[in-house]
Amino acid sequence: MDRPAIIRKTAADLRVPPNLADYAATREAFSWDAVRAELAGLPGGGLNIAHEAVERHAQGVRRDHVAFRFLGEKAPQDISYGELSGLTNRFANVLRSLGVGKGERLFVLSGRIPELYIAVLGSFKNGTVVSPLFSAFGPEPIATRLNLGKGAVLVTTEMLYRRKVEKIRGELPTLRHVLLASEDGRPTNVPGTLDLTTLMAQTSDHFDIAPTQAEDMSLLHFTSGTTGTPKGAMHVHGAVATHWATGKYALDLHPDDIYWCTADPGWVTGTSYGIIAPLLHGVTSIIDEAEFDAERWYRILAEQKVSVWYTAPTAIRMLMKAGAEIARKRAFPHLRFIASVGEPLNPEAVWWGKEVLGLPIHDNWWQTETGGIMIANTPAFDIKPGSMGRPLPGIEAAIVKKDAAGKVSPVDTADTEGELALKAGWPSMLRGYLNNEERYRKCFAGEWYLSGDLAKRDADGYFWFVGRADDVIKSAGHLIGPFEVESALMEHPAVAEAGVIGKPDETVGEVVKAFVSLKKGFEASDSLRMELLGHARKKLGAAVAPKEIDFLPSLPRTRSGKIMRRLLKARELGLPEGDTSTLESS
Ligand code: ATP
Ligand code: MG
Repeated sequence: MDRPAIIRKTAADLRVPPNLADYAATREAFSWDAVRAELAGLPGGGLNIAHEAVERHAQGVRRDHVAFRFLGEKAPQDISYGELSGLTNRFANVLRSLGVGKGERLFVLSGRIPELYIAVLGSFKNGTVVSPLFSAFGPEPIATRLNLGKGAVLVTTEMLYRRKVEKIRGELPTLRHVLLASEDGRPTNVPGTLDLTTLMAQTSDHFDIAPTQAEDMSLLHFTSGTTGTPKGAMHVHGAVATHWATGKYALDLHPDDIYWCTADPGWVTGTSYGIIAPLLHGVTSIIDEAEFDAERWYRILAEQKVSVWYTAPTAIRMLMKAGAEIARKRAFPHLRFIASVGEPLNPEAVWWGKEVLGLPIHDNWWQTETGGIMIANTPAFDIKPGSMGRPLPGIEAAIVKKDAAGKVSPVDTADTEGELALKAGWPSMLRGYLNNEERYRKCFAGEWYLSGDLAKRDADGYFWFVGRADDVIKSAGHLIGPFEVESALMEHPAVAEAGVIGKPDETVGEVVKAFVSLKKGFEASDSLRMELLGHARKKLGAAVAPKEIDFLPSLPRTRSGKIMRRLLKARELGLPEGDTSTLESS
């Protein structure tokens, strides 16, 4: 279907006056110091994420407002800001009583249960650094990360401990305490561990937050491992300024919002925007403990009256795959803003939002390293489907190139491909990669932070993702971004998702090869393959269109939902698969 290149914002898209109404004026007037002035700061000086996220509301008018609503197997469980304050104080007291101090590392390994959120925020209060793990990780990735991060404490559940940690306990020399969350309400009793509920009950719900400073470390986040071995990005309490500003401008959070971030806290979106940013704005967050299910997700959106929804391209593609009929069984009158991050969002998906949910999807771009949203489609301007949007207030983004002497400088001409770079110094910028100073230094050239992603900027200042530097295909003198090819394939009604790689070729360097999975009701066949090849050729031209297409039931993805093109390539070429610790098992 041919659709216009721009989705113009209408009054229906803006049901409340947006926080970012005038993009240019807000950028002009913006300063990080002004944002910092909006934060409370610790009473005795210093800055702590948990104070901003929890205490400020618990001591104010939002004390009884629901902070988290957990949807599990039982009835929904609400935790107000006041209750969250007491619970996180108790957790901080538990750490203190165990002699766990400021700067030590605590790992969390659990599903999206209340204890995880309490542990993360309670650790911040104690000045303890948090490192989240995916609950689906096996023993090896757990051990690697825990040892790399010198984890002193692990918070997990009885089941996960028995299944994954017990047998490797002897290989975790720095781990002093394992705190177990009970799964059935009864105290746990496992040798070598402590029962969290019992310890929490024995301590006070008062706690004086450790005097952390803006530059003190708060989180250790491992990257998704899409391009190789995950890197441990170190973040600080001062990042909270970015979370506040982006919660306001990119997610448009208003006090009465019911907000749902579908990301797991095992990766950065699930903490920056699944825990911190919504609390900073005093909104109610929905936390779904279950895994993806199209029917269930639509029910949550409708029944919980979700107003702001932050999700990911993979999830959207899965909803698209499930068909629009399920969505049409319900209405979503409360939903007013949808955003997405993690992977390029195909124009097809932006339009799907508009057509099926009545709202376009706002793509935004950032990385584990940036700690928060950097480039976004915001309520303030029209959407060009396929574009990541424009840099947020406080963020300078550029397309940069290296000259022959190795000097990196911004390219001023529009529509030129180059590396996406950000002017260093925003509050949530990583402060280092754990044990890898050299890799960290390589991220910077002069005043620029280099993202490793290739992009273009158009004449209106919108940024367009081309591909990761590692994934770009060089074919017969052309540079081909996989995203462009994948998006074209996705415009075909049979295609649910597509992953594109370059396959070495003696004549042209690399040929474009696509892997696609099909929507419900379509079957792989030679005639469909021919049809898709023809469709792509018509859309992209012969030089860019894939020469080969393979059908797969689903594409290999990281647990954070990113297509692992390097794995498609390794499998195609019979090469070693490399680090697959974050590969989602399907
Ligand atoms: P690793 O660095 O270990 O290979 P990763 O880069 O996938 O993993 P993350 O930090 O979780 O780990 O992901 C950030 C990357 O995801 C970005 O650098 C970019 O390649 C991709 N990405 C995120 N959002 C978008 C977006 N809106 N459009 C295109 N790509 C995106
Ligand atoms: Mg990366």
